Amino acid sequence: MLKVSEQGPVTLFYMGRSLLGFLLYPVYAFLAGDTLIDTGTNRADREFLSVLKGRKIKKIVNTHHHEDHIGNNADVQNLFEIPIYAHPSALRYLENPRLSDLRFYQRIVWDWPKRSQPMAIGSYFDADGFHFDVINSPGHTDDHICLYEPDRKWLFTGDLFCGTTFIYLRQDENYLQILETLKKLSRLEINTVFCNLKGAVPNGKEALLKKVARMERLRDDVLALKEELPPDKIRQKILGQEGFMGVVTRGHYSKQNTIDSILSGKRPDQIR
Ligand SMILES: [Zn+2]
Repeated sequence: MLKVSEQGPVTLFYMGRSLLGFLLYPVYAFLAGDTLIDTGTNRADREFLSVLKGRKIKKIVNTHHHEDHIGNNADVQNLFEIPIYAHPSALRYLENPRLSDLRFYQRIVWDWPKRSQPMAIGSYFDADGFHFDVINSPGHTDDHICLYEPDRKWLFTGDLFCGTTFIYLRQDENYLQILETLKKLSRLEINTVFCNLKGAVPNGKEALLKKVARMERLRDDVLALKEELPPDKIRQKILGQEGFMGVVTRGHYSKQNTIDSILSGKRPDQIR
């Protein structure tokens, strides 16, 4: 499944795998000027390539190495014969996606990307009339970048924003690092956030500030119980039972990960 929409001069591609009538965790990719920002999942490869044909695309920029952001890198690179840019630490995963340790649910929903040939991104790039600053933004992954267009006041946030609430943390994410990065980004003047999960989010600065405030409150609530309750009881009291997400991903995303990362300051996979 793939849907195309416009937000001003930015084109949004919303895509995902349909299975038994359900749409599984769809993602966005974006076209700003002549630059494709992420390439979505290869579960929508044919539809994506067919809507790109005839467009002016001069390069791909990946926000990070996850399979639902680089899924069509190889096909788009070959079709347009264009370069791919990403954070230096992401390059080896783009060259060989099998270095990522995809779980069963990830293979079902997004599948393995093909190998592509990336280059390290610099501190800025131009995209046919738009100028983008590249901002290192760790927390979701170490190789995560956000892209800021200061004249239009756009911020492309990859998987860092994902809505104003925070419940589930991935095992290899760091809660406090995400919070610090979001605080830094929220100091920018932002009209529109372009989020790979939520699409175009208006009043971007307010949205980021709202998320920061909620994450700070959650952090403070958890730390206030640190001496009083064990981690699983803190999770139960503040976030409740593990839900659907924890079951489907077999703990890859969970509420307990969130609590454990706040308590330790580390990624959950570094403390177990
Ligand atoms: Zn991601």
